[in-house]
Amino acid sequence: MGVISDRCNRYRAYSGVVTTDHDVELVLDFLNTVDLDRGTDVLADPLAWQAWLADRGLTGGPLARVRAVRAGLRAAVGGPPAPPPPPVEVRVELVAGIPRFAAVDVTGAVLAAASRLAVLDEWERFKICPADDCQWAFFDRSRNRSRTWCSMRVCGNREKARAWRERAKLSL
Ligand SMILES: [Zn+2]
Repeated sequence: MGVISDRCNRYRAYSGVVTTDHDVELVLDFLNTVDLDRGTDVLADPLAWQAWLADRGLTGGPLARVRAVRAGLRAAVGGPPAPPPPPVEVRVELVAGIPRFAAVDVTGAVLAAASRLAVLDEWERFKICPADDCQWAFFDRSRNRSRTWCSMRVCGNREKARAWRERAKLSL
């Protein structure tokens, strides 16, 4: 779907139409700039944050707003509750006769990508792993959107083992 005019510029605000996969990747990468498992937060490390933005051809913006948007988006897909973030600026421009979102900065680019996916009814596929020490954001590609854990092999199995231990304790 869509046409990629320049793969290298896929994240640039004014580049060609972005495919669904690139939108999914951008939203997920942004949601996962905080990693509970490793205890890292890209937003807390100015150099890492600049590198993250540069990799995607994006510009930053007030950090408080970036944090609020991230918390709001994570809450929207099943993360810890957070107030709705302030509105961000996204313009719509005609580029070669085609209407396109033109984001001003990273929050605009992420929300534009999220909006394109919402229009395609794909927003509900974003989820946050419910394991307390994981909370990794993932995109549920299963046909019936039934995936719960970021990874059945790690978090799913760990949860099953925990439930089994609790049942075993109760039956003592
Ligand atoms: Zn997980």
